[in-house]
Amino acid sequence: MTDAEIPDPDPGIPVLTLRGVSKSYGGTHAVAGIDLTVPAGMYYGLLGPNGAGKTTTLSMIAGLLRPDRGEIRVGDVDLRAEPRAAKKRMGVLPDRLRTFDRLTGRQLLHYTGMLRGMRPDVVADRTADLAGALGLDDALGRVVSDYSAGMTKKVMLAAAMIHSPQLLVLDEPFEAVDPASAAKVLEILDAYVAGGGAVLLSSHGMDLIEQVCTRVAVLVAGQVLEEGTVHEVKGDLTLEQRFVELSGGLGEVEGLEWLQTFSD
Ligand code: ATP
Repeated sequence: MTDAEIPDPDPGIPVLTLRGVSKSYGGTHAVAGIDLTVPAGMYYGLLGPNGAGKTTTLSMIAGLLRPDRGEIRVGDVDLRAEPRAAKKRMGVLPDRLRTFDRLTGRQLLHYTGMLRGMRPDVVADRTADLAGALGLDDALGRVVSDYSAGMTKKVMLAAAMIHSPQLLVLDEPFEAVDPASAAKVLEILDAYVAGGGAVLLSSHGMDLIEQVCTRVAVLVAGQVLEEGTVHEVKGDLTLEQRFVELSGGLGEVEGLEWLQTFSD
């Protein structure tokens, strides 16, 4: 299937649906039967404390990890039954910045486009557009292994977007990205969302989530504890206060008195 053959999303069908999705690692129930529905045309935030299961969830959606149970649909396409068609509809920024880093930025974007079945001239045009927007013009000729963490994140974001998918799955997209670049990335994503794209992102930056997301799900110990609009979830608190509450509070810091007695 070429890009032109991917049908426009049906506004009545959510861009992403998870039903009863579970994943265990040995005895650890990383994700324990979650349901999520991500509509078109919005930022959707996945929040949760360290180890809550966010990356495991996003990796299953991205098709990088197979659920033990449950169903994932991208639009009306079942990820397990039609992985190629489902993956074509999404762009993914994985949590660890592992990529083909012996390639230059330009080569990485070129091969990503080719793998998505795009025409080379379209890939070249979009590479120029994305590099300009993300401030990567001067970096395109250098190998990605020489990039800084923020530059690597930006080129991987460009790779996730180059085939104009209906869904972007972004794990911690702003970690290591400087504030000016983050603002630029948000501007690009805002236009994408305004055009009907959906951005599912995980972040520990509560201010950012509160600022951009229409809906959020709070994952704790592999389960969705709360889901709704940002307003519904936070109530009268700030999102950060509500997050701390749902995560089980801050607890007392005890037993670290030795830290105040310095060694010689
Ligand atoms: P963080 O905010 O710290 O990135 P997270 O919400 O993304 O955390 P996950 O990385 O999904 O959490 O981890 C969920 C649980 O699954 C944790 O208990 C983690 O130790 C476990 N886990 C994740 N990956 C593996 C793995 N490859 N092997 C074994 N256990 C794993």
